[in-house]
Amino acid sequence: MEIYGMREFDGHELVVFGHNANLGLHAIVAVHSTTLGPAAGGCRMWPYASTDAAVVDVLRLSRGMSYKNAMAGLPFGGGKAVIIGDPRTGKTPELFEAFGRFVDSLGGRYITAEDVGTTTTDMQSVARATSFVSGLNRKPGEAGGDPGPKTALGVYLGIKAAVKFRLNRSDLGGVEIAVQGVGGVGYHLCRMLSADGARLRVADVRPAAAQRVSDEFAATVVPVEQILSESVDVFAPCALGAVLNASSISRLRARIVAGAANNQLAEDKDGQELQAAGVLYAPDYVINAGGIISVAREYNGGTEAQVTAEIQGIPARLTEIFERARREGRTTNAVADEMAQERIRATPRKMVA
Ligand code: NAD
Repeated sequence: MEIYGMREFDGHELVVFGHNANLGLHAIVAVHSTTLGPAAGGCRMWPYASTDAAVVDVLRLSRGMSYKNAMAGLPFGGGKAVIIGDPRTGKTPELFEAFGRFVDSLGGRYITAEDVGTTTTDMQSVARATSFVSGLNRKPGEAGGDPGPKTALGVYLGIKAAVKFRLNRSDLGGVEIAVQGVGGVGYHLCRMLSADGARLRVADVRPAAAQRVSDEFAATVVPVEQILSESVDVFAPCALGAVLNASSISRLRARIVAGAANNQLAEDKDGQELQAAGVLYAPDYVINAGGIISVAREYNGGTEAQVTAEIQGIPARLTEIFERARREGRTTNAVADEMAQERIRATPRKMVA
């Protein structure tokens, strides 16, 4: 694998492989940029088909964190970790403690937290070996804990901003929204959308998760393979990445795509396909920043009320992107990337490789 020449490499400062044969740890930490501060981003545990696939994923996610943190106005750079393994069968406290030692060895250039496949409990194990970890259990009123509900709050507010911009509607009463994936973020998103009168369709590969949302929020359960092509106002991807690609965009019938999943566009050019199809796309790393805002505030010390207040900035940032994209006839993802790069470039470098 020619890492330096890969599109995803994009000038990464550091890519490190961690291994502990006794505990079965195969982990990769990628630090894209520490220009704005230490690199902050979660740790994903996933049964990757190959090491190459894990490298590509960690690089894409890490770069996304640079842009996400910059756009959220946080004093952190971008990084990410992956553990190659099955989160359903491969977890032990010792594995996460060993991962914590790996993170600690980087001396604070990378700060970890939970992501897909990892939880606050796993991060408590990580915290036995390093202080460079966030997303831990906290007392009521303090910032921190599971970032999922905070991400959901930002996505909910972002959907409202997109509905206002695209449909000129100030409320969600009767607005039809298809949510793909009702896990840690999607469940709470459905709760908030339903409280505002939105009509929900949901799909999840775990039938019980979809059924729970149906029971609690009167959502209609749709087969997993159909959710993307439902005739709705908003499609909210809240499962895994690359759902918007050459084959799926032509099947999309929503006028807005706004959801929590990271790396929703398989390729940057898919943003152009969405624009050509008249779909307003809320750039993923802008709308889903609620979780990292919570993690960052927890790490630096603060209250839950501060986190909630900071998340209220997400819809205004999205509206700025939507307006600039319309004014300049460009895609929202290109405008967001440019704004993030401008913010990083405008900051004097704090840490040097
Ligand atoms: P999660 O694992 O708790 O939930 C994901 C859900 O999607 C699960 O219920 C899973 O069964 C379902 N799913 C998986 N594949 C599916 C498919 N093909 N169709 C339908 N459902 C499917 O994860 P989460 O924490 O809710 O995160 C969801 C997405 O949001 C991920 O892409 C994650 O990277 C991103 N994200 C999460 C956070 C956070 O704070 N948790 C922050 C930013 C971004």
